[in-house]
Amino acid sequence: MRLTLLLLCFSLFSTITSAAETSATQKSLSSSGVVFTFDDRFIDQWVQQIPVFEKYNAHVTFFVDHFHTLKPAQIEGLKKLQAAGHAIGCHGAKHRKAVDYVRDHGIDQYLKDEIDPAVKLMTDAGLKPTAFAYPSSSRNAEIDQALLKTFRHLRGGTGLTPDLRMRDLKTIFVPVDQIKETGTLIGTGIDYAGTEKRPHYLTDIKDAMDHAKQRGEIVVFYAHNISDNGPGHHLSPRALEEILAHAQQINLPTLTYDDLP
Ligand SMILES: [Zn+2]
Repeated sequence: MRLTLLLLCFSLFSTITSAAETSATQKSLSSSGVVFTFDDRFIDQWVQQIPVFEKYNAHVTFFVDHFHTLKPAQIEGLKKLQAAGHAIGCHGAKHRKAVDYVRDHGIDQYLKDEIDPAVKLMTDAGLKPTAFAYPSSSRNAEIDQALLKTFRHLRGGTGLTPDLRMRDLKTIFVPVDQIKETGTLIGTGIDYAGTEKRPHYLTDIKDAMDHAKQRGEIVVFYAHNISDNGPGHHLSPRALEEILAHAQQINLPTLTYDDLP
């Protein structure tokens, strides 16, 4: 009798423990997700969108280049974004195209000039990056391998051609159980979604998110500024809100690069 009771207590305890473990890792092991990323240094405009991200319980990743040129107020902005649950990643010291630079100077010099100083400055500022986004999506397997010694994940990119639907871009989707061993995630650009330049993009992005949800995958997107008129490549705040609202509506979690296993 006593033994039965003991066994019962033990199995009850195991159940509780594994439930707690599941809950603790739920975000990184969610059954599907969408990874939104924003590149370069549009820190003021990004900070302005914190309430919008909050409204939809969305968390995203900002990949920053030229960290050594940032003013204290811009670094404060990045810290505000981080405090709001967003991730700050590295986008290179001087936004150099990796393939060209490695071809001309070698991989060691590339790491020394473009990666190490940026990572050091960011780390010293309390913004240690776990991820790197390639400027102009310029990458290859050799550089991936070298960078994955410093970063958990990288981001490359692929474009959408007029004959394809976004859901047919196979490389932008990764099954959730393969994220960990997939060092380089490929995103596709969503700047100008819903404008004259790319009128069908909003429908396409939502459809790609539905696709990820249905198949237990994550889908990766990138944009730059969040504004109506730039400067630079941009996603309008209205389009951002429509996209985030759809993710929430279909119960597709937003994951930052820091959330990824
Ligand atoms: Zn860039």
